[in-house]
Amino acid sequence: MTRDERAAGGCPPASFGGARRRAGIGALGAGPLEVDRAPTNAGAPGQSQDARGLPRAQESAGVSRDWQRRSTRRAPAIRIALPLAAAALALPAAPLAAASDDPPAWTRPRPPLRLIGPITYVGTRGLGAYLIRTSAGAILVDATMAQNVPAIERNIRSLGVRLSDVKLILVSHAHYDHVGGLERMRRDTGARVLAGRGDVAALRAGVPPGETNYGVRRFAPVARVAAVKDGERVTLGDVTLRAVATAGHTPGCTSWVIRVVDHGRPREVVFAGSMTVAGNRLINNRRYPSIVRDYRATFDRMERLRADVVLPMHPEAADVFARARSGTLVAPRLLGDMARAARGDLEQTLRGRTP
Ligand SMILES: [Zn+2]
Repeated sequence: MTRDERAAGGCPPASFGGARRRAGIGALGAGPLEVDRAPTNAGAPGQSQDARGLPRAQESAGVSRDWQRRSTRRAPAIRIALPLAAAALALPAAPLAAASDDPPAWTRPRPPLRLIGPITYVGTRGLGAYLIRTSAGAILVDATMAQNVPAIERNIRSLGVRLSDVKLILVSHAHYDHVGGLERMRRDTGARVLAGRGDVAALRAGVPPGETNYGVRRFAPVARVAAVKDGERVTLGDVTLRAVATAGHTPGCTSWVIRVVDHGRPREVVFAGSMTVAGNRLINNRRYPSIVRDYRATFDRMERLRADVVLPMHPEAADVFARARSGTLVAPRLLGDMARAARGDLEQTLRGRTP
């Protein structure tokens, strides 16, 4: 990843997960799709985001114990989000980076790649999208950029999965390279969209959270998105994922953890949120003042998180394709190494040196 790519993308490689909690499996939901709130993660670093997060009423929209209640609460949450969106739009105009600055791999299609357990890579060469097949439909992790949606949809269908079978879309974070196609994918599939609550207002507004040195890269606002909290569990059929708040790269950056069985052995798989600085303003970031504290808390979490397999949203960050080909996806030290490298980059950046 070159510095140009960082400047253009806002979201280069290096990713991470969150605090190590009980495995995301446990009691499987009785209903086809449900969200349970996990026990309070007292004292976990990721909770620093709570104090900085969205208004309390919006928080309540994200923690309903079932979808019916969640749906009824969505309207007031949106009303509360609007002033935040308006504030974001009123920020001093920053130059829009030209789309041509984006790495070509981000929009280069590639065929699906079976990874581990029920997980198949369906993204482009440079932007991660993962399909998880369950007994009650499929879950998509990230939709990437708008122009990638047709290719990702082709990949999904080529696996014998109808778009209408995709019941849930999980979001890593609200940067255009990961959510530019989210609204279209949401409409095409009819899936529910879940994101870390610190990014929900940004998703509804189509404006990324925080301030950067590369301007504001907007994306299509997401009409319906519900918030998840740190530790929350999401179940579809026989699959449960756990949300791990890994803020810093964005306030609501979220990693998703799933336990799969591979060759008879349980493996913790982490869809790791980005950990890079990637043009984020670290000092005097008025829209995200706790950014440095959150990054550091996330590095702490990621270094402790069990991650037998790391699946980042920029696949090269963990050499996903090469590892899949060589049968070396299981790499329990990788996430910690990535977190330590990201910490080093952040601290160097803070000291005024380029990594
Ligand atoms: Zn990003």
